[in-house]
Amino acid sequence: MAEKYLAQPDLDFIKEIRERGGETLNRCYQCATCSVACPISPDDSPFPRKEMIASSWGLKDKLITNGDIWLCHECGDCSDLCPRDAKPGDVLSAIRSATITEYGKPKFIANAVNDPKKLPFLIGIPAIWFAVLAWITMAGSETMTKIFHAIGLEWSHAHEGGHDIIAHADFFSTWFVDLTFIPIAIFVVVVFALSLKDFVTGIHENAVVEGKTRTSNINAKQLVQSIVKVIPRVLKHEKFNECEANRDRSTAHMMVLYSFIGLAVVTGVFFIALYVLGAPGPYSQWNPVKWLANISGVALVIGSGLMIKNRLAKKEEQPSFYKDWYILGTVFALGVTGLLTEMTRLAGSAFLAYGIYYLHLIAIFNLFLFLPYSKMAHLVYRLVAMGYADYGKRRY
Ligand code: SF4
Ligand code: SF4
Repeated sequence: MAEKYLAQPDLDFIKEIRERGGETLNRCYQCATCSVACPISPDDSPFPRKEMIASSWGLKDKLITNGDIWLCHECGDCSDLCPRDAKPGDVLSAIRSATITEYGKPKFIANAVNDPKKLPFLIGIPAIWFAVLAWITMAGSETMTKIFHAIGLEWSHAHEGGHDIIAHADFFSTWFVDLTFIPIAIFVVVVFALSLKDFVTGIHENAVVEGKTRTSNINAKQLVQSIVKVIPRVLKHEKFNECEANRDRSTAHMMVLYSFIGLAVVTGVFFIALYVLGAPGPYSQWNPVKWLANISGVALVIGSGLMIKNRLAKKEEQPSFYKDWYILGTVFALGVTGLLTEMTRLAGSAFLAYGIYYLHLIAIFNLFLFLPYSKMAHLVYRLVAMGYADYGKRRY
C-alpha cells in the first residue's frame, strides 16, 4: 500500500515569505500560466507554479532545497502575466532571501541582517570600531611606532610629500584597515564554504527526489568545473537578457557587477603595491589602476542609483522590502562615499576627506562582513545553483 504523505503547513515560514515580499502567494489558483510564460523554466518539472503550491503550504524543506528558485532571474515576466496578480517572481525572490538566512552561519548574524530593528547595531559597531582606530592612529602614533619597532615593522607607511598632502593613512593607519578587513575576508570565505556545503547537499537531495538530476552522487571536482563553466554566462547576463518585463534592469545590474570586479582588482593591485613593492598611496591620478578605480566608482554609483530609481518608479506594481533597501543603500553609500573621499582629498579639504573616508569604511564593513547574509549573497548562491544545474544536466 502506498505510504500516506501528510503535508504539515509551516505557518511561520509562510509568514516569513510574506514578510520578505511574497505577501501575494495565497492568490495563486494554480493555472500554470507562470510556468508557461517563464523564458527559462525547463520543460521537465517547470517552475514557478509548483513553488507557488509549496509556498502556500509553507513547505520550507522543499523550498530551501529547491535549486530551481536560483535559476529564476527575477525578470517579472510571470508576474506580469499572472491572471491573479499573485506575483510569483516576488514570491521566488522572498524564498531566496529566506534560503540565504536559513543557510547563513551563525544564525544570529543572519537574522540580524534581515531585521530592521538591528540596523543601528550593524552601523554602530563599525562606527565605534573605526572611531577608536582613528583615535589611536592620530593620538597614539609614538606608542604604535615603538610597538611596531619591537616586532620589526614600520608603523607608518610614509608617503611622498610628508604632512603637506592629505593621506587617508594619516587618519586611519593602513595596518588597522587591513587588519580589520583581512580577517573579515577570511570569515566571509569560511561562512560561505560552510553554508554552500549544506546548500549543495540540500539541492542535490531535492533534485534526486524530484527526478531533476541524472547523477546520484556529487563529484566535487566536476561540480567545480561546472561552476567555472557557467561564470561567462553570469558575466554576460545571458539569462537576464531573455526576460521581457524587467530587461531594463540588466544594464544597472551589470554596471554594479563589473564595478565590483574592477574595485576588487584595484584593491588587489594596491595591496601588492603597498606590502610587496613598498609603494604607499596616495597614487597619481595618471596611474592606470587609479583610472580603473575611478571608472569603477562612477559605474557603482550610476548602477546602484539606477537600481534605486527603477525600484522607486515601480513601487506600486513591485513593492520593495527591507532586504532590498538594505543592500541597495549600502552599495550606493559605498560608491558615493568612495568618490567623495577622493574628490574632497583632491580639493584639499582634510576635514571632509577624513570624515567621508570614515563613512566609507563603515559602508565597506557592512557590505563585506554581512555579504553571506544579505541579498548580495544571491550572486554566490545563484552561481553555485547554476553550476549544479549544469552538473546535473538540468536543461533550462
Ligand atoms: S502564480 Fe499566477 S500564473 Fe502562476 S499558477 Fe498561480 S495564478 Fe497561475
Ligand atoms: S521572474 Fe522571470 S525567471 Fe523568475 S520565474 Fe518568473 S518568469 Fe521565470
